[in-house]
Amino acid sequence: MSKIKDEVLAANEAYAADFGDKANLPMPPGRGFAILTCMDARLDPAKYAGLAEGDAHVIRNAGGRASDDAIRSLVISHKLLGTNEWFVIHHTDCGMETFTNEVMGDLLSSSLDTATVDESGWHDTGAGPGSEEGRYINWLTISDQAKSVRADVARIKGHPLVPKDVPVHGYIYDCKTGKLVEVTG
Ligand SMILES: [Zn+2]
Repeated sequence: MSKIKDEVLAANEAYAADFGDKANLPMPPGRGFAILTCMDARLDPAKYAGLAEGDAHVIRNAGGRASDDAIRSLVISHKLLGTNEWFVIHHTDCGMETFTNEVMGDLLSSSLDTATVDESGWHDTGAGPGSEEGRYINWLTISDQAKSVRADVARIKGHPLVPKDVPVHGYIYDCKTGKLVEVTG
């Protein structure tokens, strides 16, 4: 038995018991917008951006990067579900700033177990075997948050399947204050 599984199912039971009108929500986001943001556990887009069920699309991945798959979701979000304003929100202290493609490739080639990190960087202590497959993935790491936000906004805006009149706003969420800071330029 997994303790986490029990906790999740108990929480879901309480949530469903008070589900109310949410049963009647339509599929298209009621407020017509989408957020692309990092999967970091400290970020809760529903709270930091004031979302209720049915309000907006939230697309999350490591770093909140405009990967091919994130763009796939955004195009569906607009083309089929009518969102017409998008936010790219990266954040301070992102784990994606702590490694490079080379570091990740090395770690995975040594073992698939969870690595450890200290002042000198990442270390693999797992027994192995690992896999070389990690060397063939672009992990979309980040060296500078403002730069990565600008690059992702530009990639989305420049995509041939994205209409030019959909505004794409770039922000950095500050993990120390909870504030969204606009990335300009
Ligand atoms: Zn992050």
